[in-house]
Amino acid sequence: MDAYIALGSNIGDRELNLLRAVAELGRLPDSKVTALSSFYETSPVGPIAQESFYNAVLRLSTTLDARTLLNRLQYIESSIFKRIRTIHLGPRRMDLDLLLYGDRVLSEEHLEVPHPRMSERRFVLQPLSEIAPDLLHPTSGKTIRQLLAALTSDEKVSKI
Ligand code: ADP
Ligand code: MG
Repeated sequence: MDAYIALGSNIGDRELNLLRAVAELGRLPDSKVTALSSFYETSPVGPIAQESFYNAVLRLSTTLDARTLLNRLQYIESSIFKRIRTIHLGPRRMDLDLLLYGDRVLSEEHLEVPHPRMSERRFVLQPLSEIAPDLLHPTSGKTIRQLLAALTSDEKVSKI
């Protein structure tokens, strides 16, 4: 299965954090990183004053099921990056979101796929369109390129 994962960091050495996360994702059992976007710098959204984010998206070819994969992402956030879940939308060394899991549509208590906010986020769609512009978003039926073109927010996302 092809899964798409978003990475974001705004504490510490943000570029090094992204590189480490890519390496850890590549070490997951029965999984291989098959595409990686450029790294982008994004101004933070929301009410909390904080450092800008570095963001990227990768494709993981994996036989792990979606629930196991999300558990593994959370384990990397907490064990490697010592993330403690405190302020929502607050600063974090590493945030790993499961954007898409093949064309599956899942709506469970702690697992929603496609990620419910991906279509509004330039810092997700811009890197994702670099590696998968023609991929169909399974619930909207639009391509990633179309979703990106439809964005109206003026969020600043620049390649580093
Ligand atoms: P955000 O990533 O939106 O800033 P958090 O990472 O703090 O928020 O919280 C993520 C929460 O959302 C977790 O409790 C997780 O179980 C849940 N969740 C549901 N679907 C997904 C998904 N596709 N990817 C990542 N987290 C998800
Ligand atoms: Mg998250």
